Amino acid sequence: MAVILDGKKMAQTVKQRLQQMIKQQGFTPKLGIILVGDDAASLIYVKNKQKAASEVGIETQLYHFDDQASSETLENLIQTLNADSDVHGILIQLPLPKSFNAAKILSEIDPQKDVDGFHPYNIGLLQYGAQTGLQPATPKGIMKLIKSTGLDLSGKNALVIGRSNIVGKPMAMMLLGADCTVTMAHSKTTDLKALCQNADIIVSATGCAKLIKQDWVKSGAVVIDVGMNRDEQGKLCGVVDFEGVCQKAGFITPVPGGVGPMTIAMLLDNVVEAYLKQHQI
Ligand code: NAD
Repeated sequence: MAVILDGKKMAQTVKQRLQQMIKQQGFTPKLGIILVGDDAASLIYVKNKQKAASEVGIETQLYHFDDQASSETLENLIQTLNADSDVHGILIQLPLPKSFNAAKILSEIDPQKDVDGFHPYNIGLLQYGAQTGLQPATPKGIMKLIKSTGLDLSGKNALVIGRSNIVGKPMAMMLLGADCTVTMAHSKTTDLKALCQNADIIVSATGCAKLIKQDWVKSGAVVIDVGMNRDEQGKLCGVVDFEGVCQKAGFITPVPGGVGPMTIAMLLDNVVEAYLKQHQI
């Protein structure tokens, strides 16, 4: 049976460390959150982020617009927050409604306040292999989960399934930075099963419930499940068929309780990192 990589527990440890640091050093990082529209999932994600931030001592300010808001309104707000030295992080809850050019709006954020790590400057630093930029929370959390296995990652075959800008692509860069031999798969990949069978590490970020089966996975592999899907009964599940795969994998993340909590913890970590850098601490 695979060892369960407990993201909930690890996230708790990260949050306790941040809380202690904030308390001991007596500072208050502040995060501005921009939300457009009333997408039910986005409302829940924002609420969870605000709750987690408040638990560690990070102040949040939510700017909630209806989906008729103009790009100029958002860009003006971003400029105001960029210029406000009391605001250390800016987050735009994605997805933005289709009428917005998300890439353009994200690129308006001061890279030093870009706590999601989606600004082209921070993406570029990650590409260069520099550790100085703010890095996207989900892959950053996944690297911590993978490193917690204690395995030597050098030369390992890592397969990233999904090529999104927020998970798949930065994930591949981070694994490359850890000296893995990285393969990227996506919706047009022809033989995903064969690629999985050759992988020592699988990071699966697609929207397909229970896609990865037990016989797809190499014995002892590290299997990271980024999915947040619903099964036929409406129960939350991942991209990995957990019951089967955990019989064969060496390490596996559960859904829920794996990648999700680490994503929030790494966002908070990024806000504190942004604060410390802005104050040259
Ligand atoms: P996305 O939803 O933008 O795109 C899905 C990706 O999966 C695409 O790159 C596509 O090419 C690939 N894909 C789709 N079907 C495939 C198939 N059959 N075989 C191989 N690849 C396939 O990607 P995203 O934004 O990275 O999100 C992926 C999933 O991860 C979503 O379910 C999302 O809800 C979840 N997610 C979870 C967290 C978390 O913190 N737990 C964070 C981000 C995303």
